Amino acid sequence: MRILIKNGTVVRSTGRKKADVLVKDGRIEKIAPAIEENADRVIDASDCYVFAGFIDTHTHFDLDLGTTVTADDFETGTKAAVVGGTTTVLDFATQDHGMTMHDALDLWHKKADGRSSSNYGFHMAVSEWNDARKAEVDDMFKAGISSFKMYMVYDAMKVSDGQIYDAQKFIGARGGVIGVHCENYDVLQARIAEEKAKGHMDPTAHPVTRPQAVEAEGVARLMRIAELSKAPAWVVHLSTADGLEEVKRARKRGIEVYAESCPQYFTLDVKQYAEPDGAKYVMSPPLREAGDRAAILDGMKKKDIDFIGTDHCSFTMAQKAMGKDDFSKIPNGGAGVQNRAELVYTYAVETGAITLEQMALLLSERAAKLFGMYPKKGVLRVGADADIVVFDPNDPHTISWETNLHACDNSPYEGIKASGRTRDVILNGELVVENGQLVKPNCGRYVFRKPCIRYRS
Ligand SMILES: [Zn+2]
Repeated sequence: MRILIKNGTVVRSTGRKKADVLVKDGRIEKIAPAIEENADRVIDASDCYVFAGFIDTHTHFDLDLGTTVTADDFETGTKAAVVGGTTTVLDFATQDHGMTMHDALDLWHKKADGRSSSNYGFHMAVSEWNDARKAEVDDMFKAGISSFKMYMVYDAMKVSDGQIYDAQKFIGARGGVIGVHCENYDVLQARIAEEKAKGHMDPTAHPVTRPQAVEAEGVARLMRIAELSKAPAWVVHLSTADGLEEVKRARKRGIEVYAESCPQYFTLDVKQYAEPDGAKYVMSPPLREAGDRAAILDGMKKKDIDFIGTDHCSFTMAQKAMGKDDFSKIPNGGAGVQNRAELVYTYAVETGAITLEQMALLLSERAAKLFGMYPKKGVLRVGADADIVVFDPNDPHTISWETNLHACDNSPYEGIKASGRTRDVILNGELVVENGQLVKPNCGRYVFRKPCIRYRS
């Protein structure tokens, strides 16, 4: 299969230029002006940008919380992903109490293999850290997993600071990185009890229990733990100006920190919890304020933020109603995997906060590096995997759950305007999305990842 993309503007982190791109047998064969070669398909990308396929560093598909299971599984989630320009998702295989990492890996392969329309890899989220789990880590690297996750919160997942310290040393020495959900568990439990005692039970209580300092304390603590473990740290879904300050301060002390943020933290506002369907915004960390949004965008501009994931973790309004009388019982998370590129383009590039080149960096290149996929993925170059996005910057539309492919009857971005979107997608050398329509589902493959490229070390 040969595909020729003509007349587009090729965007890389290092610059942009008018060029054609020839794809052959799953690889990029040639990038040059005015390629005149035969192809099975010719795509006219006039007035469009051509990017390396986008990588979502943070999704939760088919995740069982114990009380309910996410609305999207790999089938629906990866369809939405690829239509939005995400050619690779990194999902959190989750080792629950009583499971081994091998169990979790097998289970995630069962969930994803043969059912995915984007490529996919797994981070390994661990709920226990002991000699038995440590003995599995080398096998995880052999299975293509070089990134892990730990939580400071959630009763089912929470580990201790000492376990984070030990795991950072152990996994860092093997070329891996651990993402940490940073919030202060004890304080937020106390604040949940305070709000409930006042009879404050609706979704507006959620952000009150987890204000900025709850995250910033967790980030500051993680930075000091990394200082002691001398290992790299990855802060997942950073949402606050104060948290970002802690990251920057740590870097000044020489700590190697990678920071991820998400579109909800530079587009949405804490006041939205008061809306009639406020439960749909219940996620952790919660939506923030104008100063936080400005800080996250500034962090993207100054390259303090490394990459943008979505933390896609969708629930229907019926599932969200589990907490209709108690905000603390609302399943945490929202749908967004389809909307990341159009939101970054509209609210960060078009507003002038970042450049197109930085969009390529934030949505693909840096994730490919840290998570061991570069240079096969993350950059448009000869020999790279042919995962390619043709992005049309002039396609104004309104985001709605009704047009999203998520298996979910709500969207935190409902009614938000976007000025462009992904038009065509080439996945593993095949045209799978054409004019915004998924024409070839189920072409996703497992991405075997190498050790991290620690570009901040
Ligand atoms: Zn998450």
